[in-house]
Amino acid sequence: MSEQEYKRALGYANAALDLLRRSGIPPYPQFYELLYTYSTGVNPDLNNRINAIFRDGGSPDADLAETLYNEFLKSDVNDRMNHVSQRMHDRIEAVHHAIDAALLTAHAYSGSLEAATGDLEKTISPAAISALAKRLLKETLHMQETNLSLEQKLQDSRDDIAGLQRDLDDVRRESLLDPLTKIANRKSFDEGLAEAIGNALSSSSPLSLMIADIDHFKSFNDTYGHQTGDQVLRLVAMTLKSNIKGKDLAARYGGEEFVAVLPSTDLAGAVIVAENVRKAIQAKELLKRSTNEKLGRITASFGVAVFQQTDTAASLIERADRCLYGAKRAGRNRVVSEDELNSVLERISAGASAA
Ligand code: GH3
Ligand code: MG
Ligand code: MG
Repeated sequence: MSEQEYKRALGYANAALDLLRRSGIPPYPQFYELLYTYSTGVNPDLNNRINAIFRDGGSPDADLAETLYNEFLKSDVNDRMNHVSQRMHDRIEAVHHAIDAALLTAHAYSGSLEAATGDLEKTISPAAISALAKRLLKETLHMQETNLSLEQKLQDSRDDIAGLQRDLDDVRRESLLDPLTKIANRKSFDEGLAEAIGNALSSSSPLSLMIADIDHFKSFNDTYGHQTGDQVLRLVAMTLKSNIKGKDLAARYGGEEFVAVLPSTDLAGAVIVAENVRKAIQAKELLKRSTNEKLGRITASFGVAVFQQTDTAASLIERADRCLYGAKRAGRNRVVSEDELNSVLERISAGASAA
């Protein structure tokens, strides 16, 4: 994490705690997340709602915070996960009950058989044998019925569990995707990068990381609205995804920032990929879907770094982030790799002192 990034996050955290304190909302993790999100401003709908409450002279209380959290932040994936796990639990319980019932019947049946063996050893009168045979027949029928019902229940469970397995796979897949853009989310990026680093270390093949950030996106949102902004995020995600291949991993890193993990790619190769993505984004003419109104174009800036043997995921990300920052300072809509970062920064400060 760069120092600048750290300071920004700390600012959001302090603002969130301050709001919790002022509104008397208990500082539970979900309420902190709510007000942290508010402080970042990444969710304008949420901010509009909270601002309207402040404007009316009120302040959000714990109940309202709960409602807002459920509406804006609570993940659908969590709900579905809970649902699947509840059904799984119910199913397992039902199987346990069926097995218990079957064991009970089997136990009683074996008791009857034992008693019959004892009776047969002493009694041999035809009437007694006939009574015994009737009793055993009845119990055998009962045993058969129980077995049949157990079989049926197990079959039902088998079908149901197969369905649950599919649901679980869906939920797991979804939990790795960013809901807005449907590309990998931060969690799968973290996992993918860790795996790629492991592979790079064991195979000594190169590994590059690219970070992209949309230029002046705040003002785009302010001009055209958050929903149009969301459409642009989807477009950028798709553009990124369609410009990488094979084992590469494209992910949404946060807000309007995207990353790509590029295994078996050296710095020069990663710069080419980033340039392709940059040009492809710049080339898209944006249309507002509802009205076909032309919205002009957007651009993005890119930082590219290559993995060194001593790197951690964090240090690699930080270097790419510093390059991204260099690209922003150098005028945006460009790619800066770690090879050129120093000369880019020197040019900027030379330009600044000449001015
Ligand atoms: P810069 O060129 O320096 O990157 O400027 P910027 O305006 O892009 O950067 P800044 O960090 O100031 O603002 C980022 C904006 O991205 C804030 C917010 O409006 C927007 N944003 C972040 N997440 C989302 C999102 O999920 N949807 C939409 N529509 N906008 C988002
Ligand atoms: Mg940003
Ligand atoms: Mg930006």
